[in-house]
Amino acid sequence: MRKTVRPKVVLCDLDGVVWLAHQPIPGSVGAIASLREAGIRVVFVTNNSFSTYDEQVAALGSIGVPAEGDIVTSAMSAATAIKSGWRVLLCGSQGLIEEIGRVTDDVVVAYNEPMAAGDFDAVVVGFHREFNYQVLTDALTAVRGGAVLIGSNDDPTYPTPNGPIPGGGSILAAIEKASGVTPTVTGKPYEPMALLVRDMCGDVLPEEMVMIGDRSDTDGGFARTMGARFAMVLSGVMPTADGSEADIVAPDLAGVVEILLKE
Ligand SMILES: [Mg+2]
Repeated sequence: MRKTVRPKVVLCDLDGVVWLAHQPIPGSVGAIASLREAGIRVVFVTNNSFSTYDEQVAALGSIGVPAEGDIVTSAMSAATAIKSGWRVLLCGSQGLIEEIGRVTDDVVVAYNEPMAAGDFDAVVVGFHREFNYQVLTDALTAVRGGAVLIGSNDDPTYPTPNGPIPGGGSILAAIEKASGVTPTVTGKPYEPMALLVRDMCGDVLPEEMVMIGDRSDTDGGFARTMGARFAMVLSGVMPTADGSEADIVAPDLAGVVEILLKE
């Protein structure tokens, strides 16, 4: 068993850890403040590609968590898979539209322009409530025409206070099934997201990082991709940590932070 060192950076998932649909989970705001007071940097790493960067900063700010410069979203990771000048069929929401728009001007939002004509270089998929049969058809047509299929994440569900709702991964799975093409997924637990986080964290070593999340597949997997420890909370989509291979298990973020600050 490797030696435990007090983390320099905590990588913190948002949905199911800090909040549920922007309603703070009790104790989470104070726990983040305690980490920062102890000199530990907190970087929020979210597979949410729905909200824009500014919306995420504002939402965290509204519950008392400053976050400017400390957020990485799966929309940002999806943008790293796009090349300047590409024509993109976008099946996602504003967060994805904004980040892809930083790379290329030629973005067609699938549900705004049904039966969009012509060839596409990429189909980019994230969570969006406008998804329908026409979007699925247009995505299939673009992929059959040679576009690469990129998913910001493959999370099957998204946690809300009323229980899980279908996530971006469920939408991506429909397009994958129809087209028979395996997508490139860029968010947690995959390498494009890890590259972004490593860039942000400079020379901090993997063993000096802890990933805190509520999903053993995405967050636990991301901890492994990063080479960091995984702390699992039970305040999100998974009711138990059975089979998660977590280094730390606690009911919620406050519980994890209590353990970390004793190291
Ligand atoms: Mg989560």
